[in-house]
Amino acid sequence: MNRQARSRTTVYAAGALALLAAVTGCTSGGDSGAASAALVPASGSPTSGSPATAAPSRSAGPSPTASPTGGAPAAGDAAAWAKWHLTPLPPAPPAPADKPVKLARTGPVPVFSEVKTSDKVVFVTIDDGAEKDPKFVEMLTDLKVPVSMFLTRDIVKDDYGYFKRLQALGNHIHNHTVDHAQMSKVPPEKQKSEICDAQAALTQQYGAPPLLFRPPYGDGANTPALNTAVQQCGPRAVVLWRESMQIHDMQYQAADKKLRAGDIVLAHFRGPKDLKGETMTQMFGELLARIQEQGFAVARLEDYIEAPAA
Ligand SMILES: [Zn+2]
Repeated sequence: MNRQARSRTTVYAAGALALLAAVTGCTSGGDSGAASAALVPASGSPTSGSPATAAPSRSAGPSPTASPTGGAPAAGDAAAWAKWHLTPLPPAPPAPADKPVKLARTGPVPVFSEVKTSDKVVFVTIDDGAEKDPKFVEMLTDLKVPVSMFLTRDIVKDDYGYFKRLQALGNHIHNHTVDHAQMSKVPPEKQKSEICDAQAALTQQYGAPPLLFRPPYGDGANTPALNTAVQQCGPRAVVLWRESMQIHDMQYQAADKKLRAGDIVLAHFRGPKDLKGETMTQMFGELLARIQEQGFAVARLEDYIEAPAA
């Protein structure tokens, strides 16, 4: 991403931040879903743990019981999508040779919520790590949709192995703090330990140091203290988002509620407790359906980013 594009993105991310912090779910367990985020203040949404009596079943969702083991279709083909009751997405174009985002080895890290590209693609990121649904591994194995994971150490540490299975599919793991602290509310040294300690644990578990960092709620993303802490710990960019997946639909920052090429989409590892009874795979299927309806492919975020030369 060139400097101009980057600063534009940064400004807009900052502008949207207050709103995002108020309505976007990015908690390990108690955050409200979706639709409710737009209708009620996040602080007052008593959603956690209430398995919505009125959970709408707009989509039948995948019927895992209907898929006999051993009969899994070849990954990525039409039958695989049909198994999950989905229309296939367009294939992603080849990764660009000249990466739109080029990260430097040292110095301040850029903050971005979209990637400058004319490819009709969006990027899917999944945060936290609370829900560890084996069916979701099966789904990504079948569909080969790339995702980037921003994991919170204390939320994933009881089962690091779950995310290794997703990593084995080619998906990258990034840093989302030790315990989901709201960064602007803690002093610089605590911000540093939140990022550095998670960086160390994730590096040890997953074999490579996370290249990217996302602060919980997007909070503090554009502050000097956070940028300094990120630089001290190793990630080389702060990544925000343009859309946030809820239960059935995305919350858009754009007034026209449309995806744009290069948008980064936020979702969470969540299960029925946080999704009004819906499963992770039902939520993710709805996300893919919303992307498919708008004609976008899902590309791998890391394919559009040039990591610093070693
Ligand atoms: Zn989060």
